[in-house]
This record gives sequence, C-alpha cells and structure tokens, in this order.
Amino acid sequence: MIPYTRHYIDEDDIAEVVKTLRSAWLTQGQRPEEFEEQLAGYCGASYAVVFNSGTAALHGAYFAAALGRGDEVITTPITFAATANAVLYLGAEPVFADIEPDTGNIDPAAVESLITTKTRLIASVDYAGHPANCIAIHKIAAKHGLTIVEDACHALGAMYLADGNWRRTGESIYSHMSVFSFHPAKSITTGEGGAVLTNNKALYNKLRLFRQHGITKSIEAFHYPPDGDWYYEQQALGYNYRMTDFQAALGISQLKKLDHFIERRREIAAFYDDTFRGNPYFDIPVERDYAKSAYHLYPIRLKDRDKKKLAFSRLREKGIGVQCHYIPVYNHPYYRTRYKAQCPNADDFYQRQISIPIYPAMAQKDTQIVSDKIREVFEEMDNYGTK
Ligand SMILES: *Cc1c(COP(=O)(O)O)cnc(C)c1O
Repeated sequence: MIPYTRHYIDEDDIAEVVKTLRSAWLTQGQRPEEFEEQLAGYCGASYAVVFNSGTAALHGAYFAAALGRGDEVITTPITFAATANAVLYLGAEPVFADIEPDTGNIDPAAVESLITTKTRLIASVDYAGHPANCIAIHKIAAKHGLTIVEDACHALGAMYLADGNWRRTGESIYSHMSVFSFHPAKSITTGEGGAVLTNNKALYNKLRLFRQHGITKSIEAFHYPPDGDWYYEQQALGYNYRMTDFQAALGISQLKKLDHFIERRREIAAFYDDTFRGNPYFDIPVERDYAKSAYHLYPIRLKDRDKKKLAFSRLREKGIGVQCHYIPVYNHPYYRTRYKAQCPNADDFYQRQISIPIYPAMAQKDTQIVSDKIREVFEEMDNYGTK
C-alpha cells in the first residue's frame, strides 16, 4: 500500500536522537529550548513554546487566551477534532463556521455572521497546508476585539503574501498564536509533539506556565516572597505537557530539512496538477494567489459525490492509501447530540473529498503509480458503472 503520508527519518536524525539519549538530560534539559529558538527563528516569530502534542499546544493556546466557561470560539468543521476538543477542555463552546468550497478553509464572511457577545476567539485552520485567509480574519477579529489562534498544524513551511511580502506561517503577525503539530504525518516530526508561536511576551509566559503544571521557578514571577532557595509556586492549574529532550533533538534535526520537504511536496503537487488538470472526474486543489501551500495533503474533490464510496474502496483495493479529511467535526457522535449540521459547504466538501498520497520521501515512480491507478479506477467506473 502506498500510504497517504509517511514520515522521513534519516541517519542524521537518528544520530541526533542517540546523542541526546547518551546525554545527562532526557527531559528538562536544553534541547527543547534550543528547538524553540530555531523554530521561532525559522518562522520569524519572537517566541515558541514546544509541547508534547499539537493537541496540548492548542489547549495551551486557548488557556493563554484566557478562554473559559461561557465563551464561544468560532472554528471550522473541516479539521481534526482536536481543534474543537481543546475548546471544550476549557469549558468554552465551539461554533462551526462554513468553509470556502474550493480551499476547504474557513470562510471569513461566515465567521463574521456568527459573532455574538459571547464570541472570544477565532480558531482558523490552514487546511491541507494552504493558509486560511488570515488577513481577512485578522480584520474581523480586530473590529470585534477577538483573539485569533491559527491552527497551523498542516502548514509549517507554508507562506502567504501580505503587503507585497511573502511571510511564513507561524510568524504570527495576523494571529495572536500559531499552533503546530509534529505528529509523523505533519511537515516535520518529533514522534508526538507540538508548538505555539507568538510575538506576545505575556502569552509566552502563560504558555510556559501551563505546560509545567502551572508551576513557575522564576523569582520575578512569584506572588509571595520565597521561603528559601527551594521555593517555587503553582499559580494556575496546568498540565505536564513537556516535550522530552530526545524528541526536541529529532525536531532540531528535522527542521534543517524542512525546506527540502516542502519543496518535494510542492513538486509532487505540481506533478499531480499537470496530470489531472481538466480531467472529467474530479477537481484538483486550488492555490490562491496569496498562498504557497505546504501541501500537507493533496485533497481532490469528486464532481459526482455519489462515486466517493466506491472510488475510495477501489483505490484502497489497488494499493493506494487514500484517506478522507475530514468528517465534519459536528457529525461525530460526541458532537452530534449538541450541534446540528449547519454548514452546507462543509457537508458537500466532505461528500466529495479524498486525500491521495503525498509525502517528501515519495518516489517519482510511486506518484506515477498513484496517477495511473486513479485514472484506471475512474475510467472503470465510467465504463462499467458503479455497481
Ligand atoms: C494533527 C492535528 C492536530 C493535533 O495534533 P497532534 O500533534 O496529533 O495532537 C490538530 N489540528 C490539526 C488541524 C491537525 O492536523
């Protein structure tokens, strides 16, 4: 089976992890901070705080934004459930805004129409690695005094055009915080891992506090005079969300290859674009003029949505590891009882969308196999019907 995604690990990565395993610090050493500095440097943000997953990083970002009971967060249903789950962790309520039918990203106009007196935050998602329309979202948020958390878990290495300059996702100019994941499916991996990037010192301090049980050892931050040299304070209810040193070591090594990874992803996307442009069976992903996608996914959208089930299973039978991104979050049983479907574009997108294999280590011969099998499956369905 050619998977829809796969991590890329080389001997340099392995050596870096082994070096850290042989060091005095498996956790709470220098490597997470080193990774944070490099990540912030790469993206052009002032601060990065690494976490032990992207989900923990989202939880941290929402906590730092002081989200709580009674607050509403406007987000997209076409995302991994964690974007909305972490809102619920803090007792706040997700509100689902509809998407743009072509990019699959949250529609700024839909966001604005859902703002109430309870709205506190907008959680946008850079679906498939294509930056959401962050400038339009930023305008809306500024007008209504809302915080923006950009779930950029798909989009490390993506870029967008603002005022004539190409900027990196994660620079956090049009959002208060940007969140990344380092799950093996994402741009770079630490096994499990995540990060929040920000330019705001106060948010940075809250993120660090939250990651470590709500505990601080920093004298300047103490509420009370220290009892002695052992003194530290728990000032909030935090979690143990730390990344280990050997995971950070892997992240440091992976980050060096990020530009090559994105280049290869974009090369594969260009090959698929050329192969499939104008075909009668499905639409290829769009890339807006303002965006350079990280192509975390290559989502195709079938013209005939009744063919999705059969096309999907036939592709799997032929060894093509297709996936679906995503079941709209409000359709999951956990959400279904509380949220009714209210996003026709998202529902339609779900019924047409299939992710086909794309990852940096993918050989050219495999992209050719994938293209051939896809053509075969759709032509067979055309010739012999869908029974
Ligand atoms: C992967 C992902 C997450 C969660 O990240 P983990 O590291 O798996 O916890 C959150 N949001 C989106 C959009 C993701 O793709």
